Amino acid sequence: MSITRAGCAALDAADPLRDYRDEFVLPDGVVYLLGNSLGALPKRAVERVAHTVGVEWGRHLGASWNTAGWWDLPQSTGDRIGQLIGAAPGEVLAGDSTSISIFKVLSAALRLRPDRRVIVCDAGEFPTDRYVVQGVAATFDREIRETGPERSLADVLGPDVAVVLISHVDYRTGAIRDMTAITEQVRAAGALVVWDLCHSTGALPVDVTGVDFAVGCTYKYLNGGPGAPAYLYVAAQHQEAARNAISGWHGHAAPFDFEPDYRPADGVRRFAVGSPPVISFAALNASLEIWAKVDMRSIRAKSVALTELFIALTEGLGLELATPRDPVERGSQVCFRHEHSYPIMRALIDRGVHGDFRAPDIMRFGFAPLYNRYVDVYDAADMLAEVLGKELWREDRYQRRLTVT
Ligand SMILES: *Cc1c(COP(=O)(O)O)cnc(C)c1O
Repeated sequence: MSITRAGCAALDAADPLRDYRDEFVLPDGVVYLLGNSLGALPKRAVERVAHTVGVEWGRHLGASWNTAGWWDLPQSTGDRIGQLIGAAPGEVLAGDSTSISIFKVLSAALRLRPDRRVIVCDAGEFPTDRYVVQGVAATFDREIRETGPERSLADVLGPDVAVVLISHVDYRTGAIRDMTAITEQVRAAGALVVWDLCHSTGALPVDVTGVDFAVGCTYKYLNGGPGAPAYLYVAAQHQEAARNAISGWHGHAAPFDFEPDYRPADGVRRFAVGSPPVISFAALNASLEIWAKVDMRSIRAKSVALTELFIALTEGLGLELATPRDPVERGSQVCFRHEHSYPIMRALIDRGVHGDFRAPDIMRFGFAPLYNRYVDVYDAADMLAEVLGKELWREDRYQRRLTVT
């Protein structure tokens, strides 16, 4: 049976999540399949940022640290994110970037395993994760051991491994790793695990129960806005012993006593460092209000349906699927390998279909169940067929790489 645009429109009409699209600003003529990189703008974020700037900052000025809850933003926002990842209140703190959060939790993990020298990270892990591992290893005089196509986790785990950093969903292929099984495997070896949830939070159900540490960003599926605060999770059982290597005043036990020496705050608050980006927090919290209402099982069901549809519609185009074919193993993205992925993606974006390119040869399409429709998937596949069929990507202006791909 062939799939029609009218059939897709019928799926949209029956979609339990269909009304959420109206929460977002989506330009006409654009099929936005880049919510896995920068989520769309929630309408309420526009109002919330205007309020924070105009009223909280403009009118109430410094009093807002108390009256508008600015001081508590890292914890109050962290608790909201915690609900999306199965964390208890007080286990998640929002702030800084994912990269900085990785530094903080990795160095804390090393301190909890002082007699173990090795940090494990995959060869294909997201570059910033690898770069921070390299910085942490150099700073704290540890070794790195890599997993990869030829070396599994079982091959590298041993009594000298302190911590394993691993992404739940691979940023390039969209493959999901088994969080429960891997966490058990790492802990059975006496090591600690740090999960990077950048491509899972807001894309599929996540449950950090039993996990030691986790980090994630909020500007992808959570629609927090460009540069929105990241978050870190520290299991309650580790909080008392865990230390923040970046021991700033916002993580101090009594910051307004202005003591000369650092004393860590209780709980996850000790992972705060300095003044939070209050305006970014406003945008993020507006989006999190939407997320508080969403059932993650509906998100996952629609995500699977959207990615299945896109794969079915693009099957005859001669592209090599780089994403797992089985939806159980796939996050909320579809990617293909193609020698000309870069100019193909540029030609698509020029025609209103937004995805991205990941070196060396991957084109990625992310599916955000809150605002992507089945007809969007249909139109994107249609445009991809046209760009490939007519070789529209061959134009000169698509060949030169822009700074951000
Ligand atoms: C997006 C992403 C990051 C982003 O790091 P920032 O410091 O927030 O820029 C890190 N790790 C992974 C796996 C990602 O997908």
